[in-house]
Formats: sequence, structure tokens, C-alpha cells
Amino acid sequence: MGSPEITKGIRARGILAWLLAGLLVSFYILLYWDQELDQQIIYDLIIDSQIKDGDVISPEQRQLIKQAALTWQRPTELLEEYLPLVKKIQHSITAQSLLNYLIRPLDGLAQMLRGQKADKWFLYGFLYTALVVLMGARFIRKWKYEKYQKMRTLSVMVVQLMLAFLLPNLMVAAGSKEFYFSYFWPLKIEYFLPSALSELPRSLFLWGLMMSFVAVPVLTYFFGKRWYCSWVCGCGALANTAGDDFRHLSNKSTLAWQIEKITIYTILALAVAMTIVLFINHYRGVRDGFSDFAFAVQKWYFFFISAGFAGVIGTGFYPLAGTRVWCRFGCPQAAILGILQVFLSRFRITTNGGQCISCGNCSTYCEMGIDVRSYAMRGVDIKRASCVGCGICQAVCPRGVLRLENRW
Ligand code: SF4
Ligand code: SF4
Ligand code: SF4
Repeated sequence: MGSPEITKGIRARGILAWLLAGLLVSFYILLYWDQELDQQIIYDLIIDSQIKDGDVISPEQRQLIKQAALTWQRPTELLEEYLPLVKKIQHSITAQSLLNYLIRPLDGLAQMLRGQKADKWFLYGFLYTALVVLMGARFIRKWKYEKYQKMRTLSVMVVQLMLAFLLPNLMVAAGSKEFYFSYFWPLKIEYFLPSALSELPRSLFLWGLMMSFVAVPVLTYFFGKRWYCSWVCGCGALANTAGDDFRHLSNKSTLAWQIEKITIYTILALAVAMTIVLFINHYRGVRDGFSDFAFAVQKWYFFFISAGFAGVIGTGFYPLAGTRVWCRFGCPQAAILGILQVFLSRFRITTNGGQCISCGNCSTYCEMGIDVRSYAMRGVDIKRASCVGCGICQAVCPRGVLRLENRW
């Protein structure tokens, strides 16, 4: 199958899907790069005000004006006379004004939970959690006769609400650093970088290490990738709740599978290499060409992988390419879990080939693009690195052919 074939499905999506994708992509771009988008406007307004008032604003005050305009918090050193300019900037900046329409109504809740005004990341966490909880309730209603679906969805809803929203905010209110207990290296790559050594309390740093290098292999040995991707991870939570209506859009071709194997392990290799380079740089402790290189690698990794791929494409492409684009083609955590699942785990999907009527429901609804039917028809166990153990293939099978099992 050639590459035009692989994009055929995406190109054939209706106008509504493209509009929704455009909206989601724009929101993510606004969220990540609002300050960059507004940079020039702020600069022009400051220059404009200087020309009009014949005043020369010092570089320090310019910085404070910019800071006040972008954060909506007045730094104490900012002179009173510049407040009208700050206000003018706030009401002129397109990206900021757009975001502020959404952020400001959450100030009360943010004050209550984290003891400070809302910012764009509070807005994001709030919207994300609300979607997981509301759409999770809808999902549970839809699958009310499927115990496995109800349990795992309840699990991701509780984890998202408690560990990825309430607790991190309450930690800030208590004067601690915001920390997400449900994410670990390499998905939350900053939890095992040299910066974490200085920024995180030692206990949290050790928690992250323990989860990444002990809990992940042990739990994956017993339960496969599903314990994390379908029961804990917030990205999987959004995909399986808010993104449930798009799960069937994932590409099932062999070419997509081949691409997936290349991209996911390449990103894992990049994540590992970046971590090693940053630690070498940290322990060398000198500023030279190597340290410039290390920081450039870090900057581009966060730009392309963490923001661009995981955020903008990972969620923005739900209506075009299915809900697990990032999980399937990008997530370095998935790459590790996948290797463990294939070579070490007791988890597999067993098939009773004699019962299969080849209806194809299982393949259609597999969000990871696995051609489940081809395994079922041959009566072969499914042990694929990408399978997140969501169990939907089992739930939609009319003949009870498939079973998710943790067995030898
Ligand atoms: S594949 Fe990665 S992002 Fe997706 S659910 Fe699993 S760990 Fe989370
Ligand atoms: S094979 Fe089944 S359990 Fe695995 S990801 Fe696909 S639908 Fe989910
Ligand atoms: S849904 Fe069941 S019967 Fe239909 S193809 Fe898949 S395994 Fe066979």
C-alpha cells in the first residue's frame, strides 16, 4: 500500500471533521505559543507609546510591562505610570485576549485550589479533566453491561481528577512544587532530567525513578501495557472518553504498522539520548559547545515531540486519524511498555478461531490499528506491542472469540 493510500482515509473525512481538527489544532497552538504569537504586537505597542509620550521606557520596565500583560499579575517593581499601557496591551493582544476569555472565569476555582489566579495551564488541566470525567460518564453509560469497560474507565477518571488535577493544584497551595504522580519518564521526560534534581524534592524524584524503572516492568510483566495505557495514563484517558467516537478512524494498513515501529522507537531513542546528553552536560559542569548542543537538543525535543507531536497532532488529529496517533506513533513510554509486553509479559488476547465469523468488528474498532480479525481467524494469540488492552475488540465481538488474559 503506497503513501497516498495511507492518507486517503484522512483526506476523505468530512468537512465537520476537518473543522473540529482545525479548532483543536488552533487551541493547542494558542496554548503553547501564545506569547510568541503576541511578541511583535507587544513590541509595537511599547514603541508606539514611547513615540507618543516622548518617554523612553527602560529595558527592565519593558520586561515588567510584558510580564504583567502576559500573566495578568502586576510585578511589584512595575511603575504605576505604566499600568495604562499594560491594560492597553492586554486588550490588544489577540492570542492573550482569546485565552483570557477562557481563563478569567476560572480565577475563583484556581484561588480555592491552588491559592492563586488561574493561568493557561490551569485552564488546560480543568478542560482536560472535565472532558475525561463527563465523557467518561457517557462511556460508562454506553458500556453499562461490560464490567471491564466500566472499571477501567472509572479508574482513569479518578486518576485524572485526583492525581492529575486536584493533588498537583493542592500541592501548589501548600507551597510545594506541582507534581503529577501518574506520569513518569520518558512520557513526562522532565522528571528524570538534571533539572529535576534541583527542582523536585528528593522524595518526588525518587518516586519518579521507582515508577519508571521498577513499577513499570513489574506491573507490565503481570498485566501488560494495559495497566498503564488503559487504566492510569491521562492521554489514554482522553482518547478513550472524549475521543471514543473517533476510535475506528485509525489506519489498519501494514504500511501504518511499519511506520509506527520506526517512529515510536526512534522517539524512544531520542528521549534516551537526550537524557544521557543532559546528564553528561550536568556532570561536566562547563559552558561550551557541548552544553549549547545539549540545551538545543532539549529545546527541540520539547518543541517538536512534547508540544508539536504529543499536543498539537496527538489531540488535534482525533477527528482525522483516530484517537491514538500519539500513543501509536510517538509515545516513548508506549515503546518501552510495548517491548516489555511482547518479550516479558503474561498478557495476551487469546482467540477461539473456530467461532470467528469474520465480521471484522474487532478490527474496525481497534484504536491502535491492529487487524484483530486476521489473528482471530487463524486462532492465534494476539501479543502486539501496540495493543493497549482496552478490550473493545472483545466487547464488540458477537461470538465471544476474544479474551484478554494474564496467563503464562
Ligand atoms: S501510549 Fe503513551 S500516551 Fe498513550 S496511554 Fe500509553 S503511555 Fe499514555
Ligand atoms: S487489540 Fe483489542 S484490546 Fe488491543 S488495542 Fe485493539 S481493541 Fe484494544
Ligand atoms: S469481532 Fe469476533 S467474530 Fe467478528 S471478526 Fe472479530 S473475532 Fe471474528
